[in-house]
Amino acid sequence: MAPEIKFTKLFINGQFVDSQSGKTFPVVNPSTGKVICQVSEGDKADIDLAVDAANEAFKLGSTWRTMDASARGRMMDKLVGLMERDLHYLAQLETYNNGKPLKDAVFDIYGAMYALKYYSGWADKIHGQSIPADGNVFVVTRKEPIGVAGQIIPWNFPILMLAWKWGPALAAGCTIVMKPAEQTPLTALYMAQLSVEAGFPPGVINVVNGFGATAGAALASHDRVQKIAFTGSTAVGKLIMKAAAESNLKRVSLELGGKSPIVVFPDVDLDKAVQTCHAAVFANMGQCNTSLSGCCAGTRTFVHESIYDKFVEKATELARKRKLGDPFGEVDQGPQVSELQFNRVMALIEAGKKEGAGLKTGGLKHGSEGYFIEPTVFVDVQDDMRIAKEEVLLLTIFGPVQQIMKFSTMEEVIKRANDTHYGLAAGILTNDINRALTFSQAVNAGTVWVNCFLHVTSQAPFGGFKQSGIGREMGEEGIHSYVEVKTVTISMAKF
Ligand code: ADP
Repeated sequence: MAPEIKFTKLFINGQFVDSQSGKTFPVVNPSTGKVICQVSEGDKADIDLAVDAANEAFKLGSTWRTMDASARGRMMDKLVGLMERDLHYLAQLETYNNGKPLKDAVFDIYGAMYALKYYSGWADKIHGQSIPADGNVFVVTRKEPIGVAGQIIPWNFPILMLAWKWGPALAAGCTIVMKPAEQTPLTALYMAQLSVEAGFPPGVINVVNGFGATAGAALASHDRVQKIAFTGSTAVGKLIMKAAAESNLKRVSLELGGKSPIVVFPDVDLDKAVQTCHAAVFANMGQCNTSLSGCCAGTRTFVHESIYDKFVEKATELARKRKLGDPFGEVDQGPQVSELQFNRVMALIEAGKKEGAGLKTGGLKHGSEGYFIEPTVFVDVQDDMRIAKEEVLLLTIFGPVQQIMKFSTMEEVIKRANDTHYGLAAGILTNDINRALTFSQAVNAGTVWVNCFLHVTSQAPFGGFKQSGIGREMGEEGIHSYVEVKTVTISMAKF
C-alpha cells in the first residue's frame, strides 16, 4: 500500500531545492518504525532564502499584489480541484506518514478542501468601511495583507492544519513560509507541488522542512516576517511569542494545548453519551491537537455520580471493541505518530497506575512493531493526579486514554472544568436547556459543544481562552490576523 514519495526537498520560490547545508533527516512510518525516506533539512539559511522569496513575491507591483482579489480566490479553488483529483494519493500519503486510519485521512483531506474553499470565497470580500469622521475629511479603512506570514504546524493533522493556515493567508493576499512538523512533512510537500499546478506565482507559497529549534525558531525570530501563526504546544507557543517580541514585534496567532472537559448529566441517552465521550477522546489516536497537551480532545470526562458506574462499564466495553492495527486496513485506530509520543503516553499511563487510578482496560503497547497503544480507560481519577493535570512537566496524556471522573453538582463541575490553565474547548451532554446555557456561559473555553463534541467547521471560529492560545482561526475571525487595517483620511473641499 506504500504510496510513491515524489517530493522530499525544500520548496522555495516555486522550486524544490536541497537545503543549503545539504543535510537531510529521516521520515518514519509510525506503523512500523521504519524510515520512509530522507527529506532535506532546512535551517536558518534556508528560512532566509524562503523569506526573501516570499518578500519578493509580496513586493508592490508583483504578480501576486496586482492580481484581482477574485482571481486569487479562483486560484485557491483550482488548488481545491487538484486536491480532489489527487484525493486518494494524498490520503495514502497522510496515512503512511502520520499513521491515521485511511478513512480518517480522507476525512481530513475533505476538511482541508472545505477550509480552502471557504476562504477562497473570502478573497474578494475582505473590505474596509467609510467612516463619518470629524472634520472636512473623507475617511476610509482598507484591510491590507499583512505581508509574509510564517506558519508552523504540528503533526497530528498535517494537511488540515496546512489548509487552516494557507486559507486565510492566501485569501488576504499574504505570502507564506510554512514549516511543517518534522514528523510529517510529506503531504505539505505534495501540496507545494499542487500550488505550482494551480498557478500560484513563485515565492507566494514556500515550504521549509526542518526542526523546531532551528528552522522554526529562525522563522519566529525573522525580521522580515510580518506575522507568525503557530499551532502546537503551549510551551513552544510561549517561545514563539517571545521570539516575535524580541525581533520585529511580528503579529502572533497561537492555537495551543488544552485539557478539555466533557460533562455528562444523567438526563441523556446513556449509550449515545458513552459514544460521544468515546469519540471525543479516542479520535485521531487521542491526538486531537498537540502532544504536550490534550487540546480539544475530551480528555477529562466528568460523569454524574448517579450514572457513573453504568457509564464506566459501557465506556470500557466500547474501548475494548475499538479496532487497532494497520491504518491502511479497516481499523478505528492506528499508531501514535512517533516513538517520542509513544514513550510520553506510556510514561503517563504508568504514572496513572502508580497514583492509584483504576485501569479498566488497555494500558499496554499493542503488537511488536510500530507505536501502537491499546485503547485505555482509567476510572476514579482524582483532579490532582498527574494524568488529570497539565502542570506537572507540562505533560498530559495525549493519546488513546480516557479518564473518567465523578461529579455531583453543576457548581462543582464548572469549578473543576475551569480549574486548568487551558481553555480551548468544553462539552456538555444534557437535555436540560438551562444546564446547557449555564455551562456554556460559565465555562472558560473558546468552543463549547452541547450534545456533540469535536464538531469543527470552516465557518465558525476556533481558538482558545487562557493559555490555549491567542486569536481565532477559521470563520471570518480567521481573516483578521492576516490583515492590517489602514485608515486613509482625505481632505475634502468645503461646499
Ligand atoms: P509536539 O510536541 O506536538 O511536536 P511542538 O509544539 O513541539 O509539539 O511542535 C509543533 C511545531 O512547532 C512543530 O512544527 C515543531 O517543529 C515546532 N517547534 C518546536 N519547537 C519550536 C521552536 N522553539 N520554535 C519554533 N517552532 C518550534
